[in-house]
Amino acid sequence: MAVVPNSTIQTLERVVPDKAERQLIQRAYRKLLRAVKTPMTDDDKNNIRRAFELAVAAHKEQRRKSGEPYIMHPIEVARICAEEIGLGPTALVCALLHDVVEDTDVTIEEIEEQFGPIIARIVDGLTKLDGTYTSNVPQAENLKKVLSTLVDDVRVVLIKMADRLHNMRTLGAMPHHKQVKIAAETSYIYAPLAHRLGLYNIKTELQDLCMKITEPEAYQEISRKLKETQRQRTRYINEFIRPLTKKLDALNVPYRIFGRPKSIHSIWSKIKNKGVSFEQVYDLFAVRIVVDVEREREKKVCWEVYSIVTDVHHPIPERLKDWITTPKSNGYESLHTTVIGPQGRYVEVQIRSERMDEIAEKGYAAHYKYKGVGTERDVYQIWLDSMRELLEDPSTDPLEFISDFKTTLFKEEVYVYTPKGDMRVLPKGATALDFAFNIHSEVGYHCSAAKVNGKLVPLGYKLRNGDQVEIFTSKKQKPNESWLKMVITGKARSKIRSSMKEERRRQGEIGRETLERKFKNLKLEFEKNVDILVKHLQLHSRPDLYYAIAMGEINPGELIKNNFQIENGLLTPIKTEEPETETEPKKSKRLSKVKAPKMKLLVGGEPADQYTYAFATCCNPVPGDDIFAFLTTNSGLKIHRTSCPNASNMLTHYGYRIMSAEWVAAWNTTFVAKLRITGIDAGPGVIQQLSSEISKLGVNIRSFNITGDEGYFECNLSILVQNTDQLNVIIRGLRKLDNITTVSRIIEE
Ligand code: MN
Repeated sequence: MAVVPNSTIQTLERVVPDKAERQLIQRAYRKLLRAVKTPMTDDDKNNIRRAFELAVAAHKEQRRKSGEPYIMHPIEVARICAEEIGLGPTALVCALLHDVVEDTDVTIEEIEEQFGPIIARIVDGLTKLDGTYTSNVPQAENLKKVLSTLVDDVRVVLIKMADRLHNMRTLGAMPHHKQVKIAAETSYIYAPLAHRLGLYNIKTELQDLCMKITEPEAYQEISRKLKETQRQRTRYINEFIRPLTKKLDALNVPYRIFGRPKSIHSIWSKIKNKGVSFEQVYDLFAVRIVVDVEREREKKVCWEVYSIVTDVHHPIPERLKDWITTPKSNGYESLHTTVIGPQGRYVEVQIRSERMDEIAEKGYAAHYKYKGVGTERDVYQIWLDSMRELLEDPSTDPLEFISDFKTTLFKEEVYVYTPKGDMRVLPKGATALDFAFNIHSEVGYHCSAAKVNGKLVPLGYKLRNGDQVEIFTSKKQKPNESWLKMVITGKARSKIRSSMKEERRRQGEIGRETLERKFKNLKLEFEKNVDILVKHLQLHSRPDLYYAIAMGEINPGELIKNNFQIENGLLTPIKTEEPETETEPKKSKRLSKVKAPKMKLLVGGEPADQYTYAFATCCNPVPGDDIFAFLTTNSGLKIHRTSCPNASNMLTHYGYRIMSAEWVAAWNTTFVAKLRITGIDAGPGVIQQLSSEISKLGVNIRSFNITGDEGYFECNLSILVQNTDQLNVIIRGLRKLDNITTVSRIIEE
């Protein structure tokens, strides 16, 4: 019998003058103490008592919307933590104190002084979490905050869950518009989170409570129909169970067998999603068989029960779900099968041990109660690790994070196998590429092809239950932008992103070295001059400049030569208005960064028309490209891009044959650009889709050739464009198309 000590009664008498209220509070407190199932030391008991006394005193002036003393709320939250989540004494102390810092004069320092750092930290987390979803801070930021706290100490979110559950249970006193808002927040974050934490009962109750507010009519109707059909359902369940009991008894293992109605919310989702009526929902209930056996025998006994059930009632084999061999990522373990019961009705049967049942209902805390027994991997830890990974990725902005989070951590799951037959659990919608990253980051990075059930599939193939997936890797392969469109798991996304970042950084390093060499040659001090170039090119940052140099988009030598003069060791832009000395043979040296759609070619500063010239077919320059002219031995001038692979050879060995060339505004002609497009051959529509996209952009196709091989295609496309701007628009447009993996401009030879 829970005894309320004298000091506590004295505190109560002092702060709660009303006798009836005092009795109410005492009764609730006693109920809380009775609910504690975990063993408690004297220290634990003492802490709970002191927390209670502090909370009673701190909240003494406050009342809930319903009119009852505010302290009833923390007491009840603590009771939910103990009874419905199975948390221990530390969490109860925190639950009792959870609103103290937020709503009263008590500070977090005082809590730390009285209860120590662990409790103070959890209460602090709860205080910070409070009101997150009702404030005006963007939702994504809030979600991230909730989850960061969770990773810090899961107890924070579990207590928060109890808090939310109690608030939802007592929502009646709130004005309707507030109810709707709180319900929306609850179904957006807390119900899915409860699911993830394996708090099945709490999830179900939260969903039902939300539905009661947001869909009151549907809720009332289903609840009424459930009541009306209850007797016939009970009769049916008995009929189903009767032939099983004798055989189950013969196992000589204590067991419970019972019918369990599905939640109103889940029945309603079925009605909605499948477009059926209440009467047509066949699984309004499930039959559960829970065996009480020691850990070592539970799998064996569960399968024995399975065999009894399926001997009596014919099973539908594809409905067998074995979460005993491979638990769900929220820790759920159970054996599910659907059998054909009396009158040909489908009945779902859930078979599990008492331990599995407790984990299934209470999740996290129950899971930890059993931790340490057995050697199987800790699904909880895996989940928390993946959360941490997601949260620690600094590159994700909040909106990306929210979508990663929702897909990776809240989605239903799909079960697939490695070639060795190991099962992997991925969120529904995950692709072959997600699978590769799930196996190992390195496998992901170098993933070049995938086979599902022996057939080659595109990397973006959506996995289905039971698929056997084999990944092929190639050292040459590395992630690219388009991969981001092919994955849905947070791990794959963040790995691809960081690898691309790393690649960019690595390339930038090379670019930086190139620039440093150039500056050294010109006797320019690096730090003093680098930002002058960044600014001149209107880039955002130095890394952008380094990267552009590494990619050959910018030739620092040309850039400096054409645009700057050196004064006192500083790059000084050449003033564009002033023409240079007329005697110089190479006249204008300005860089061809002209953005005008129509452009004219100048060679050596003169209109190109006065020369015999042609565009080199090795690099097909178009207006806007950085170019130079090369005097050939027998066919006049050839215009090359400065990034042409042959450029460095020509420039180093035949410098005397080089003339400057540039684009200036005004001209009206088109140029050939060659593109290579690779992608996934998703059927006969691909070619049409491509050509229609290109014609939408108003481009003339000169040649088009496509080759395919086992689900992949490569397309070489020659198009006529007016300048680089137009070309870039086309490239970007093509990259956006479904099934397109890469689009690159190619230079032959
Ligand atoms: Mn609260």
